[in-house]
Amino acid sequence: MLDFNTIINNIHNNLKHNVVKGVVASYIPELSKQDVNSFGIFMQHMDGRTFQAGDAEVPFSIQSISKVLSLSKAIAFEDNNLWTRVDVEPSGNPFNHLSLLELENGIPRNPLINAGAIVVADILCSQFKNPKEDFLQYVRDIANDQTITYNYKVAESERLTGFNNFAAANLLKSFDNLNNDVDVVLDFYFHQCALEMTCAQIAKTFYVFANSGKCINNIPHITVSQAKRINAIMLTCGFYDESGEFAFEVGLPGKSGVGGGIVALLPNHFVLTTWAPGLNAKGNSLLGMQALEQFTTQTNLSVF
Ligand code: GLN
Repeated sequence: MLDFNTIINNIHNNLKHNVVKGVVASYIPELSKQDVNSFGIFMQHMDGRTFQAGDAEVPFSIQSISKVLSLSKAIAFEDNNLWTRVDVEPSGNPFNHLSLLELENGIPRNPLINAGAIVVADILCSQFKNPKEDFLQYVRDIANDQTITYNYKVAESERLTGFNNFAAANLLKSFDNLNNDVDVVLDFYFHQCALEMTCAQIAKTFYVFANSGKCINNIPHITVSQAKRINAIMLTCGFYDESGEFAFEVGLPGKSGVGGGIVALLPNHFVLTTWAPGLNAKGNSLLGMQALEQFTTQTNLSVF
């Protein structure tokens, strides 16, 4: 039997001494305050066991990891227009590129790049009565944790500097692919990205995708087929123009965020979360990618 505790702690101990740790995101000023030496790993096994190393219980800004959660809620609403308004193809482009959006008539390549997540945010703004409150409640429910909250400073920091996202939202609006006001949709989007969670909380939340749509309390939130589709989108689009590399090196569906978090999962087996704020050139956590690569190589546990 694999000794996950030793494997995870060895990976953590080896990587934490790496001199090259990547660069902390600074385009959202509040994120630049993160310590590049923070490093946590948390594993939630489906048999109930958990394993952790380092800063696994320190809250951080989940940023784009939230796009999977908003997508899952939009899918759960069974909005028939979802897949006519956003595609499911890898973009081969950075998370915030706008060029394809114009070429492709305002239909974002997938829901995990910014433009796609903004369309998903628009759907949630239409479907929810109180979008920010109701979305937070959804996340708390699938996490089985009522303490999860937004970091309002991070949301405000992103609003003040979110010129690229304002450009994306305005472009979407000009193509008639936003029903609500740009300011309303982006206010929701900046808050969802500003959700603050620990590696442990993220692993417990993403349990729902590893467990065919049932959360850690065994309550169904999405169907088996919806969970399968979300995992497929994470595998093909979860790391922007590094999605191929992540599948090649790690071999698991997953999602990264510019706060330095990565969550990856093997359906019916486990969810594994890492947090290390230093990013590589593609905006993905440098140590996190290495830790996950070492984990699947050493354990031989991947979808392939
Ligand atoms: N909130 C960030 C943005 O929209 C999310 C980007 C990310 O985590 N890749 O730019």
